[in-house]
Amino acid sequence: MSELNELISKIVKFRDDRDWAQFHNPKDLAIALNIEASELLELFLWKKENDANRERLKEELADVMIYALLLADKFDFDVHNIIEEKLVHNSKKYPVDKAKGNAKKYNEL
Ligand SMILES: [Mg+2]
Repeated sequence: MSELNELISKIVKFRDDRDWAQFHNPKDLAIALNIEASELLELFLWKKENDANRERLKEELADVMIYALLLADKFDFDVHNIIEEKLVHNSKKYPVDKAKGNAKKYNEL
């Protein structure tokens, strides 16, 4: 079992030990993911980017990733594969010769 799959198994066990799967429908997982992303954003609000609390950043980033992994698990997505596929897709949208050092969106390259 890969390290990623072991991590997902731990998250699922945490959820199942509490019988929370009943609440984890795709809609609510997506909402929770967005709320956690907003909590992450809040750490930067009204601050210079390097002034965000590093410990709180770790916590909120972990929350975001936990919900992302739970959502992927809900749909039986292989996280490794979907990220690999997205990187291939993004490589076509953002070819190095056009995108290197350039922050423009793919449709503006
Ligand atoms: Mg949080």
